[in-house]
Amino acid sequence: MTATKGYAAQNATDTLRPFDLTRRDAGPHDVQLEILYCGVCHSDLHQVRNEWVETWGKTSYPIVPGHEIVGRVTAVGDHVKKFKVGDTAGVGFLVDSCRECDNCRKGLEQFCRNGATCTFNNTDKHSGGITYGGYSKLIVVDEDFVLKISDKLPLANVAPLLCAGITTYSAMRHWKVGEGHKVAVVGLGGLGHMAVKFAASFGAEVTMLSTSPDKEKDARRLGAHHFSLTKNEGQLTALAGMFDFIIDTVSAAHGHNIYLNMLNTDGVMMCLGAPAEPLQIMGHLLSGGRKSLVGSSIGGLQETQEMLDYCADHNITSDVEIISMASINEAYERMLKGDVKYRFVIDMATIAPI
Ligand code: NAP
Ligand code: ZN
Ligand code: ZN
Repeated sequence: MTATKGYAAQNATDTLRPFDLTRRDAGPHDVQLEILYCGVCHSDLHQVRNEWVETWGKTSYPIVPGHEIVGRVTAVGDHVKKFKVGDTAGVGFLVDSCRECDNCRKGLEQFCRNGATCTFNNTDKHSGGITYGGYSKLIVVDEDFVLKISDKLPLANVAPLLCAGITTYSAMRHWKVGEGHKVAVVGLGGLGHMAVKFAASFGAEVTMLSTSPDKEKDARRLGAHHFSLTKNEGQLTALAGMFDFIIDTVSAAHGHNIYLNMLNTDGVMMCLGAPAEPLQIMGHLLSGGRKSLVGSSIGGLQETQEMLDYCADHNITSDVEIISMASINEAYERMLKGDVKYRFVIDMATIAPI
C-alpha cells in the first residue's frame, strides 16, 4: 500500500478538507498514476452533499470525489501492455466492470449488468472498502479502464473530457447529431460548453439556451450560432417546434415542458443533467409531434478513447479555470450559482506533498 494525500468530506454538510488515504500497490494489470489535474463535475457536488439518495443510494463517507483525471504513469504491473512509466494517461467515471455481461461485451461498461465500479463513492473490489476518486495525488486503476492521452493538447484542458466530454459526445453520437440538424443546448456549464463544441464540430446549427445573459459572448465563441435567455418567455415562444435535438445539461430542478414544446416533429430531448428532483412532464407534449425524451450516461471505454482521439485530431478541449485544491469549497459555491467558465480543474501540485 502507498500512503497519499487527498481531499474528503466527512458528511453531507462538511466542507472538503485534507485527508490521508492509501492506494493498493500496482497489481499485474494495474497502472499507477500521479494525478496532475482533476476536473470538478457537478456530479461530485451532488454526491458530496448526498443529493442522489433515491437514485444512486446514500453517499458513503468519507468521500473523495473526482472523476476527470489526467496524470503521469508512475508504475505499471507485469502484464500491462498499453502503458509504460512516464506516459500521460486518463481515468474517467469508471474504474472497473464485470467485462463479461452483454453490455460490457458491447463496450457499454457504464451499463454493466453486474454493476460497474465508479471511480469514487462505490464499493472497491480490491479493498472491500469504498473507492476514492481524483481529488488526490495518486490512483491505481486496471489498465483496461485507463485512457491514452495525446501530448498534443494542454493537459488541464483535457481533464474535463473524461466526463463532461464523453457524456455529451456519446449522447450526440448515439442519436447521430450532425450536418443539417438544429440543436439546442440548455445550461452553459461543464457539460453544456462541451455539448456546444461537439454539436458545432459535427456540423449542427447550435442555439444556446441559458439563464445567464453574461454568457452570450462566450457561447458564440464556443460555437453557438444563436443565444436565447431562458428567463425571457417571449424569446422562448418564438422557438416553438424549432429543434431536432435539445441537450439538457441543467444540474438543478427546472421545467422541461417549455423545451418539449421547442422540439420539431420526431425531435429528441436528451436529459444529461441529473438534478435530485423528479421531472414533471406533460404527456401530450411528447405525443403531439411524436417526440422522445431520452437519457444517456457517460460512455464506454472504447468510445471514450474514440472521443479523446477525435478531440486531439480536431483540437477540441475544455475551457477551464485552474484552481488550487484548497479553493475547492469556494468553487462548489460558484458552481451552484452557475458561475463557472466553464470547468474548474484542480492543479494537484497544490496538494501538500506526501
Ligand atoms: P455545471 O457546470 O454546474 O453546469 C450546470 C449549468 O446549468 C449552469 O452553469 C447553468 O447554466 C445551468 N443551471 C444551473 N442551475 C439552473 C437552474 N436552476 N435553472 C436553469 N439552469 C440552471 O454542471 P455540470 O458539471 O455541467 O453537470 C450538469 C449536470 O449533469 C449535473 O446534474 C451532473 O450531475 C450531470 N451529469 C450527468 C452525466 C451523465 O452521465 N448523464 C455526467 C456528468 C454530469 P446557465 O448559466 O447557462 O443557465
Ligand atoms: Zn462527471
Ligand atoms: Zn458487465
